[in-house]
Amino acid sequence: QTPPYQVTNPATGAVLETFPFATDAEVESALARAAAAYETWRATPIDERVSVVKRVAALFSERSAELGELITTEMGKSPADAAGEAGFCAEIFGYYADQGPGLLADQPLPGHPGGRIEHLPIGPLLGVMPWNYPYYQVARFAAPNLVAGNTIILKHAENCPTSARAIAQLMADAGVPDGVYVNLFATHEQVATMIADPRVRGVSLTGSERAGTAVAEAAGRHLKKVVLELGGSDPYIVLDTDDVDATAETAWQTRIANMGQACNSNKRMIVMDEVYDDFVAGLVERASAMTPRTDADGYSPMVSRKAAEGLLAQVRDAVDKGATLHVGGELGDHAWFSPAVLTGVTPEMRAWHEELFGPVAVVYKVSTDDEAVELANAVDFGLGGAVWSTDEERATRVAQRLDVGMANVNLPAADGFADVPFGGTKRSGFGRELGPLGIGEFVNQRVFYVQ
Ligand code: NDP
Repeated sequence: QTPPYQVTNPATGAVLETFPFATDAEVESALARAAAAYETWRATPIDERVSVVKRVAALFSERSAELGELITTEMGKSPADAAGEAGFCAEIFGYYADQGPGLLADQPLPGHPGGRIEHLPIGPLLGVMPWNYPYYQVARFAAPNLVAGNTIILKHAENCPTSARAIAQLMADAGVPDGVYVNLFATHEQVATMIADPRVRGVSLTGSERAGTAVAEAAGRHLKKVVLELGGSDPYIVLDTDDVDATAETAWQTRIANMGQACNSNKRMIVMDEVYDDFVAGLVERASAMTPRTDADGYSPMVSRKAAEGLLAQVRDAVDKGATLHVGGELGDHAWFSPAVLTGVTPEMRAWHEELFGPVAVVYKVSTDDEAVELANAVDFGLGGAVWSTDEERATRVAQRLDVGMANVNLPAADGFADVPFGGTKRSGFGRELGPLGIGEFVNQRVFYVQ
């Protein structure tokens, strides 16, 4: 596992800052601090925890521009998107500060006046987080758990050390006590060591299936609760439309957001034959008009040269086996990859089965609702899905047949709400983040009964 934590600007290839891996002594110290802090944090009245979390929200808002700059440099997203992400974290921390106490309140047990269900913290948690939304991914794990009274050790992605450090600093500035939120530049082995440690009570990972498998295996061996938010290849079914241009625009904007590097991006567009040609033309027109970002406009680089090369290999494999690349798919300098539209993808191609974690719109043509559903459910992923139609009842019937954790009708993939749960089925993982469900994952739902 080399190199260590490092900032490489994907727009220029410049290596800017390098941080050593944590020493084993630092890992032990993090565990000891998180365990000690848990005893006081769990005993801190929830109103006080909420006050601290409100200050965290305020600082995300106040610092959104400077926080944004860090991730633009680390992983390439535009300054506007980067600052927007920090602002969204303010909403997430604010949501749990406002709603957490109610969500954690005791629940009566009807028919049992002496019984109730309590929601208690369970202890120090380990978060393993990815680079695609360096703040948001951490926020949706940290916010509910800080309110609930758990403490957190955070292992961020190796290409996000400066944003990881900025989050830890922000927490300290907001008054989060020492040990309640600990950032650690851990190795994969140290992650396994921490999962095995009895002081760690649960682990949450967002990332690839490969990482999810490794972490879940370790967690299973040591009987630790785990939440996994893995990849997706979300279907985006267009049954009919009275405005194909607007439909193509929404589909394209959803796909291109974050340079396609979102787990719930609409990676497979499944379009009814009467709409198909115009829809594809709409996507191709938009992809052709895009130029690399110089300032605010244009597309961003992908996260890294390695990621762009990986995407290129997936596209080449499809084209070699007969798919049509209408536009884009060219690797420029460093991590620049021109947004692409691909059709004619068939089961022998990697693009059929694998997640395309970048700006490639794959469009399939179907002629019946059944065919659309069958294709939508044909992959191993089951994160989200969207169905579009002027006939809401028809779209609803189709959406109800999707084997996913999040099904939308006439709404693109919704990662934009702090108060709406997020998560998948099948190989997209298990457990939920955000909304009322997100705060229930790492709590002891203790039954308390007085006779
Ligand atoms: P990874 O899944 O490798 O990284 C996510 C996090 O998991 C990082 O902190 C990483 O640490 C950590 N990690 C990886 N392997 C292990 C392990 N064996 N033990 C402990 N921690 C581990 O993402 P990649 O950057 O490699 O992305 C590859 C693919 O992952 C993408 O193409 C996409 O399919 C998927 N992905 C999905 C995301 C989502 O939002 N669901 C987000 C990012 C990626 P480190 O950086 O040190 O390796």
